[in-house]
Formats: sequence, structure tokens, C-alpha cells
Amino acid sequence: MVKHMTWADRLRGGLQKTRAQLNQNAGFLGRDLRSYTRDEGALEDLEMALLAADVGGPATADILRSVQASRRPDLLAALSDALIEQLEPPKQEPAAGSNGLTPWFQPRVKPSPVEPAGHVVMVIGVNGVGKTTTIAKLGQHYMEHGKSVMFGAGDTFRAAAGAQLEVWGNRLGVPVVQGKEGGDPAAVAFDAADKRKARGTDLLLVDTAGRLHNQTNLMQELQKVHRVIGKADAGEPAEVWMVLDAVTGQNGLQQAKKFNEAIALTGVVVTKLDGTAKGGILIPIVRELGVPIKFIGVGEQADDLQPFNAAEYVEALLAQ
Ligand code: GDP
Repeated sequence: MVKHMTWADRLRGGLQKTRAQLNQNAGFLGRDLRSYTRDEGALEDLEMALLAADVGGPATADILRSVQASRRPDLLAALSDALIEQLEPPKQEPAAGSNGLTPWFQPRVKPSPVEPAGHVVMVIGVNGVGKTTTIAKLGQHYMEHGKSVMFGAGDTFRAAAGAQLEVWGNRLGVPVVQGKEGGDPAAVAFDAADKRKARGTDLLLVDTAGRLHNQTNLMQELQKVHRVIGKADAGEPAEVWMVLDAVTGQNGLQQAKKFNEAIALTGVVVTKLDGTAKGGILIPIVRELGVPIKFIGVGEQADDLQPFNAAEYVEALLAQ
């Protein structure tokens, strides 16, 4: 019988390249923190290893500082604390008085990071990052968690994107709202949002175009899709998640910044972490975009996409 792989196994397996790179270059196996931080060569190796994992300069400097200041007995514990701190979602406390409440009476309970804030999630990202398969995997995830799901096939520009989503929809038993190939993506989005509302479905995941003739048009198109969803269903989409391919590293992050300027992201899904030794890219994503990572993908199977948890991620990265 094939042993059922747990998410921890999949995550460790998926992060194997980044872990190997860190272990090999940082040489922190079994090192005592005090001797390590007194050893300039070792600290430099750690710095290089973090940079090679795409952690980025500013975060690497912060991590080194907090490792040096740590009171933990061993390096792994100190490094683990520092990495988790970098990966925790930014504090998005509302500005004092912004909702008319006094500053000491702000709501403390935030929705869990994987629980969408409303009923419609608009999913954006450039072609090839794994957007369509991510939508299918998200659909499966939420169904397994007892939610009713719908898909909106809003990528009318990529030949076969709609057909691909239809295949997934049939497989999962998820209704798919389709438009005409080459047709208006905003019309599909409106139709899908309208149907979701009428049927009372828990969650609509809207696929969007990843490429048009030029980037300016793409941004305008996405803004239009966003607006139109709000016309069909006020207050939606509650979430805009961008799918990023980890293999594209810093380039992907630069792209995400442009998208974030055009349409405010509420979350990021990072795919293909199994294909890269640069799994540190999650840190500048959180730091520079200021939005939380919602899910991560470490393979092609449906179970290879799971909610992101900083402590779990760091454990898998540093596991010996
Ligand atoms: P789209 O153009 O962004 O919609 O991309 P697709 O959804 O068509 O996916 C492109 C390819 O990436 C497919 O072969 C997926 O199976 C693959 N893919 C998606 N996520 C992952 C992942 O986490 N790891 C690996 N290795 N492949 C993935």
C-alpha cells in the first residue's frame, strides 16, 4: 500500500532545494548560537545563503541582527524565530478612529488568513504561473472544508483557459460560468458574481486574463473586472489574490508590485516552490507588498496546495 503523505511530508519534500541550499551554504548544522555569532565567517556564510535564497538585502540584514541579539541557545532556534517574524502577515490594525470607534475599542479578532473576507475572490497573475490550476485546487480545498464553490472563467483571452477550468469544474462538481473566447472578461465576471449571489453559493473564484496586448490594457481590464463584480454584488470582490510563480523570484515580485499599484491585493498565492532553491522569496513578498501569503504550492497534485503557515514553513526549511 502506498503510504499517505501528510502535508508536512509534502512541504518538506517541496522545499528540498531551498533547504539543501541553506544547509550547505550556511553551515549551521548543530551550531551553538554564541560560537556561531562570534564567528564572522559563519555569519557571512549565513548572509550569503539567505541572499542566495532570494530573501533580499533589507530582510537579510534584519535577520542577522535579530539572530545576533537572540537569547536562544542554538542557532537554529534563533534563525527560526527571525524567519517567522519576517513571514508573519503585516499588522493591519485600522488607523485610530477610522471606523468611528475610539482607538481602544478596535476589533481585535481578524478573520483567519484562509477564510475569505467575503464571497468572491478575484484571482490574478500572469500566464503560466499556475493560476488556473490554483483556482481548481482552491476550489477543492474549500469544498473539502464544507463550502459550496463556483468558478468564473474570466480568462477569455487565453485559448483553452475556459476549457481547462470546465474540465476541473466537471471533475470537482463545481459549476463554471463561461463566456465567449475572446469575449469581454468583465461580462463573464458580472454574470458569475450575479449567479453566485442569486444561488447563495459560498464562494466564487474568478479567473482573469494573464496577458493582453500590452500591460496597461491588462491593468485597466482587471480594474474593470473588479468594478463590475461590485456592480453585480456590492462589496465584492472581498479578496484579490495574486498567484506568483516562486521560480521567477524577484522578477515575479516586481510584477506583483505593478499589479498591486493598479488593483489592491489582499493576498498572494505562491506556486512551484518545489522547483526552486529560492524559497526565501516569500520574505520580500510579505515585506514589500505588505499583504499576507494565503496559500503555497509545492507540486502539481491537488494536495500540494495548502494554506500558508509561517511556523510550518520555517520548520520545513530548517529541518535537519
Ligand atoms: P496559468 O497559465 O497561470 O493558468 O497556468 P496553469 O494553471 O495552466 O499551470 C501551468 C503549469 O504549472 C501546470 O502544468 C501546473 O500543473 C503547474 N503547476 C502549478 N502549480 C505548481 C506547483 O506548485 N508546482 C509545480 N511543480 N507545478 C505547478
